[in-house]
Amino acid sequence: MTTPNIVAIRAFTDNYIWVIRDHCHAAVIDPGDAAPVLAYLQHEQLKLIAILNTHHHNDHVGGNAALLQEFSVPVYGPANEAIPTLTHRLKESNDPESEEGNVFIPEFSLNLKVLDIPGHTAGHIAYYGANLLFCGDTLFSCGCGRLFEGTAQQMESSLQKLAGLADETRVYCGHEYTQNNIRFARIVEPGNKALIKRETEVKKLREQNVPTLPSTIAMEKATNPFLRCGEPEIIRSASNHAGKPLAGPVSVFAALRGWKDHF
Ligand SMILES: [Zn+2]
Repeated sequence: MTTPNIVAIRAFTDNYIWVIRDHCHAAVIDPGDAAPVLAYLQHEQLKLIAILNTHHHNDHVGGNAALLQEFSVPVYGPANEAIPTLTHRLKESNDPESEEGNVFIPEFSLNLKVLDIPGHTAGHIAYYGANLLFCGDTLFSCGCGRLFEGTAQQMESSLQKLAGLADETRVYCGHEYTQNNIRFARIVEPGNKALIKRETEVKKLREQNVPTLPSTIAMEKATNPFLRCGEPEIIRSASNHAGKPLAGPVSVFAALRGWKDHF
């Protein structure tokens, strides 16, 4: 199977609306705003064939209704969140044939498996297949989403689920937060050489106004403090910040997340 072409459409300040496309079809992930999507489709002469949502926040679903006025397409999204325009309610399933656990896009011969990754929101899902991961606001490059509806335990386990995917998986996050995340990560884990290298690369990309995404699972495992809660240097930093010794990845994760919230 050929890997489909993935393109970023920028929206709002720092959102990415990801487009899976060939020479005449497009599927969009998290169209928070319809206008830039419609402009892109028109410019590229593409027909919209599907909308995929990862969670209910308006900067990820706000463009659904206006896109549906132009194109009659299926709208996939989390079963456990209130998104009025959904036509297919999804949740993770162990059954590879399950309709609610998979999205098949025939135009691209692409099957994406649904992963339940609660934490940022209660019903947040990701789409994974063909070495692609669309993870919305759960995993960011060198960071993770805020805990709006879930617990630290849920988020830590969601992130570990994503960390368990193939190393070469390309990670398409919902926002361009990488540079700011690295500033925090460097304080938490100053001795991480892979992180220092990534910081230099990201600085160059941002100076040229180029997206720092996709990242890869291998890159995130090497540089993202929220996936590295068992590393001695990170446990030390989190414990120092908390003012007490922390044991176990969930308590380290919770301390890091709380620290980052006020960073
Ligand atoms: Zn969100």
